[in-house]
Amino acid sequence: MTSFATHLECSRCQEDFPVDQIQQVCKSDGGPLLVRYDLRRVRDSVTRDVLRDRPETLWRYRELLPMTGDKFVSLGEPITPLNGAERLGAEINIPRLRIKDEGLLATGTFKARGAAVGVTRAMELGVRVIALPTAGNAGAAWAAYGARAGIRVVVVMPDTTPDVIIRETSAYGADVYLVSGSIADAGAVVKRACAARGWYEASTLREPYRIEGKKTIGFELAEQLGWRLPDVIVYPTGGGVGLIGMWKAFDELRAIGWLDQKRPRFVAVQAEGCAPIVRAFVEGRNESEPWPDPRTFAAGIRVPKALGDFIVLKALRESGGIAIAVSEGEIAESMRAAGGTEGMLVCPEGGAAIAGTGKLRRDGWIREDEEVVVFNTGTGLKYAEFLQGDAARHLAANALPDE
Ligand SMILES: *Cc1c(COP(=O)(O)O)cnc(C)c1O
Ligand SMILES: [Zn+2]
Repeated sequence: MTSFATHLECSRCQEDFPVDQIQQVCKSDGGPLLVRYDLRRVRDSVTRDVLRDRPETLWRYRELLPMTGDKFVSLGEPITPLNGAERLGAEINIPRLRIKDEGLLATGTFKARGAAVGVTRAMELGVRVIALPTAGNAGAAWAAYGARAGIRVVVVMPDTTPDVIIRETSAYGADVYLVSGSIADAGAVVKRACAARGWYEASTLREPYRIEGKKTIGFELAEQLGWRLPDVIVYPTGGGVGLIGMWKAFDELRAIGWLDQKRPRFVAVQAEGCAPIVRAFVEGRNESEPWPDPRTFAAGIRVPKALGDFIVLKALRESGGIAIAVSEGEIAESMRAAGGTEGMLVCPEGGAAIAGTGKLRRDGWIREDEEVVVFNTGTGLKYAEFLQGDAARHLAANALPDE
């Protein structure tokens, strides 16, 4: 198998870089590099019908993925469910609410998509050591896929990362280091170590392939809806890779004629304690300022400054979308609501997305008749220490209380 990828393109200056060598960011301006494909050739080579006989995994979209071989680093990568959420939808007055539940992927979050494709490319390029900073879940995912590929993985994360995620990452055999501070401080450590030791730096958007894996959430969503898109897509935004990835995925699908021109409005949800993209959006800026003291128990969106913030802001504006912040209380309340009404144990980030959706409906920004897809980016089990156990009661004499 060969790839339809032709080159890497800087997202800032559009300079080209070869796709068959190890690349990190643009050598001129530090901009993230995006994989470009010969979309005309893809369009002429395949139709949507080819998918019919392919396995129900993200590898089914291989013409729009960057691997050159047919050996994938895989832990299964099932197509994740796009669940109707009528009871929760009734509660927040959005009858056509759906939740795409990424908690079923390996390592329990959608970070598995980026790691599957990212580690596969690292293997193809002959990488020996991968290092990355993480707010938690990316570290776990790259550690798992690295183990699967026999590649050493070094992970640096904040010491405030949820305990389960720290121990999970160690369980995959990675070298795990904790720093005080945020993912930005972890990032500085990794950058120095990679420069000194020649390691492959797999920080968000500092290698070009994680986003290619993450964009498959866009392919899946379009296919699950019968090759059309909803009115609104709500995404809990940290580094913004999932959102940029979907944006890219929809552009590519339109270019090869698999989707019509309709574009959904993108919503980026952040926590009030770490909302750099919301602030930049509200202030009409093209880039965010680093958030000074990021705090939220939704660890995956505790990102004070995203390398690709300018692309996220562009996608939000061009789609007619919006960025919105929610409180810790609103996140916890939405987690309880999703569990109690739909039987979904959503992660805090997913809870944030649901809370933001409810807010935008109350504001009238989302209309009652609109079709809304919310991303639950991971399972709540990874945040066991934050689950509310206070509803459980101890039995006095091992007998249930009278009704
Ligand atoms: C990383 C992460 C996010 C944020 O994803 P980005 O694509 O980097 O914005 C959201 N939720 C969870 C559970 C995460 O791990
Ligand atoms: Zn550049």
